[in-house]
Amino acid sequence: MAIATETQPLQQHKVNASSASPVEQRRWTLNDFDIGSSLGRGKFGHVYLAREKTSNHLVALKVLFKSQLQQSQVVHQLRREVEIQSHLRHPHILRLYGYFYDQFRVYLILEYAPKGELYKQLQKCKYFSERRAATYVASLARALIYCHGKHVIHRDIKPENLLIGAQGELKIADFGWSVHTFNRRRTMCGTLDYLPPEMVESVEHDASVDIWSLGVLCYEFLYGVPPFEAKEHVDTYKRIVKVDLKFPPKPIVSSAAKDLISQMLVKDSSKRLPLHKLLEHPWIVQNAEPSGVYKG
Ligand code: ATP
Ligand code: MG
Repeated sequence: MAIATETQPLQQHKVNASSASPVEQRRWTLNDFDIGSSLGRGKFGHVYLAREKTSNHLVALKVLFKSQLQQSQVVHQLRREVEIQSHLRHPHILRLYGYFYDQFRVYLILEYAPKGELYKQLQKCKYFSERRAATYVASLARALIYCHGKHVIHRDIKPENLLIGAQGELKIADFGWSVHTFNRRRTMCGTLDYLPPEMVESVEHDASVDIWSLGVLCYEFLYGVPPFEAKEHVDTYKRIVKVDLKFPPKPIVSSAAKDLISQMLVKDSSKRLPLHKLLEHPWIVQNAEPSGVYKG
């Protein structure tokens, strides 16, 4: 199957061909798609490869059950995810083209990421080379700079939420925990290992939470495990709050990489290395592919 290219994007809203006014929009329905193989299963439903019949564009169709969404009280969260993700346009952010629903299900029309989950790649090779890690970190920094410019904080950056596109480029997926905000937030969210001290301690937080999580991710790319891992949750909490950061002797990691991680994993959120400075850090400049694409 041919993969649709950027030059033939799926329209966010379907324009009714029989309508005289191009402004009039018709909703998507399941009949607009040929459904292919299953791409995976999530908490609330399945993801299928699908082809939009008119454009031949391949997409990932995420099918969620309304009853499960209601039972788990995540309807509000899903609305926010859809609203935020559908407005973001960046090469390293997975597009959400649109959505529709029927009596029982909600369908999200997502950009298809043919190379799947980053998490699986990391499991396969245990840890990444410095070139590969730096390329990914730089592309994520660019995507987060774009999000923060739109007052969107992701708050849940981790390998499970990153997919790989056709060229090997990273795509941030899953905006379930993201917020659109002008204020500082106090909600407890995200996954433990990636939580910054201010979220563990439930004090106010802002966009610099994503710098912390990117620092944790950078560590995990290079060492294969997150930095504050512990057997018990309570011990992970303690290690995060103390910023108990240790660099094991193996695998061998350059001191420039360790320097960058140390500048991101800083307890005082206002002292974390800003993302535009991260892009100028010697480790990034020397290792990251300027194209943002790691080819192996
Ligand atoms: P949840 O988001 O509910 O916490 P999850 O991330 O495991 O759980 P989904 O986001 O629903 O689940 O996705 C399930 C699986 O389908 C993913 O793990 C991934 O392998 C695959 N998948 C999801 N979206 C895409 C996509 N756009 N392109 C390719 N594969 C995808
Ligand atoms: Mg997901």
